[in-house]
Amino acid sequence: MLRLIIIAAALYLLYRILKGALVQKRRPVDQTRGEIIDELVQDPNCKLYIPSRSSVKKVIEGRTYSFCSEECAKRYLEDREK
Ligand SMILES: [Zn+2]
Repeated sequence: MLRLIIIAAALYLLYRILKGALVQKRRPVDQTRGEIIDELVQDPNCKLYIPSRSSVKKVIEGRTYSFCSEECAKRYLEDREK
């Protein structure tokens, strides 16, 4: 009876390992790649290119805009309203 439990436990462990390996293989490539650190984005106000990480992000009407500074974001919003 004890042997049966050990065999069952071993099979269960094997099943877990195999399942884990399959899940890892199936994982989309994009998730492991992560973020692109030095992606350049254009400021729609002053047309400057700034690294995405240090930009000021604003969501306007569902779209994300990246600005070099809060000032530019403000100006861009004011220009849109005209
Ligand atoms: Zn700017």
